[in-house]
Amino acid sequence: MKRNSDVAVIGAGIVGLAAAHELSVRGLSVTVFETGVPGFGQSAGQSRIFRHAHDDPRMVDLAVRARVRWLQWEDEFGTELLSRDGGLALGPSAIRRLEHLSAHPEVDARAVDSAELARLAPVLADYRGDAVFDATAGSIRTRAAIEAMSARYADYIVGEQVIAVRDLGGCVQIRCPTGVYEHGALVVAAGRGTAALASGLGLDLPIELGAHVRVSFAARTPQETMPTLQDGSDHFGFSGIYAAAYPDRTGYGLGLSDSVPAQPDGTIRDAATLGELADRAVQYVSVALPGLDPTPRDIVHCWVTTLPWGDDGVAIFSTGSTYVVAGHNLFKHAPVLGEALAQSVVAGSVVEGFSADDRLGASG
Ligand SMILES: Cc1cc2nc3c(=O)[nH]c(=O)nc-3n(C[C@H](O)[C@H](O)[C@H](O)COP(=O)(O)OP(=O)(O)OC[C@H]3O[C@@H](n4cnc5c(N)ncnc54)[C@H](O)[C@@H]3O)c2cc1C
Repeated sequence: MKRNSDVAVIGAGIVGLAAAHELSVRGLSVTVFETGVPGFGQSAGQSRIFRHAHDDPRMVDLAVRARVRWLQWEDEFGTELLSRDGGLALGPSAIRRLEHLSAHPEVDARAVDSAELARLAPVLADYRGDAVFDATAGSIRTRAAIEAMSARYADYIVGEQVIAVRDLGGCVQIRCPTGVYEHGALVVAAGRGTAALASGLGLDLPIELGAHVRVSFAARTPQETMPTLQDGSDHFGFSGIYAAAYPDRTGYGLGLSDSVPAQPDGTIRDAATLGELADRAVQYVSVALPGLDPTPRDIVHCWVTTLPWGDDGVAIFSTGSTYVVAGHNLFKHAPVLGEALAQSVVAGSVVEGFSADDRLGASG
């Protein structure tokens, strides 16, 4: 059997592409298997929040490192990937998380009052309560990132669905509808497909599958700056709201952090709640964001793959020469996850701090 490249990567979402990039810069040849269009799984949509604030201080370290890499990627790929508009967080949790940020001089975050808030986010209704602004946060331009990376690695992307993987000891065999391939090592970053592929290798990942909805709203007037927004305050009668700006600052993609549980095979028994989550996003905009038109302009449905220790939980699992990454809210950390996966492949074991026992991204 032909050995096709040093490392196979399953999944051309942001994490798989980041891993391919980091493997490639380390001199390893890569093949990326992608069953659909690169970047249209969990990485779909126009924007994501890049934030430093996390409950787990290790995630703050990771975000600081990730921001450095995002800015390096901007130079490497010649396109802006991260807006410089900053990020706002409302509610007591924002103040609690601010404490972790003070240990990092690179992070320019501070508590702000209602007057400054009105200046920073003119689309927001009057708000008097806990608020934090991180000038070094911002919206990730997801399409630009995916397009830049998938163009760079276009010659290495194989448009096949991987249906089975097998560790042969020293190499990994990959079976696709129209071919069988062998590679020295394997990285699985297949989003919703990860648990099934890992299960075939004997890895039982504790992934909870959910479905999520995110709605986009246009700004009523042109905006010079649109910071990301996380509202955990309940001030407007809602909590767990997040919003990231469109790259052209014409609106926000906004959702509630809640998701609807799904069966491992993807069955959603409670589709009505998905509709209700979209309706609540509209209601939030109506009361909290008078600067936006509450008529939805766009909608994105997406799978959410969460680890049991928290919404920001992430881990790399391994068996033989295979490294499997799982978690949620991975976009912002993709550059360092790609690095960690590449380092794990090169070292032959999961890089320190990323194994499931580390419970990276634990809440509370
Ligand atoms: C609505 C929404 C909002 C979010 N907001 C944020 C945010 O603000 N900040 C943040 O950091 N993160 C956020 N996230 C999470 C983040 O988007 C995801 O964690 C990240 O995009 C996951 O990327 P990935 O590459 O791991 O997976 P994916 O993008 O899902 O990529 C996996 C790829 O693998 C392919 N694949 C699957 N199975 C197979 C197979 N058998 N063979 C071949 N290919 C296969 C799929 O087609 C897919 O393209 C959000 C997620 C959602 C859904």
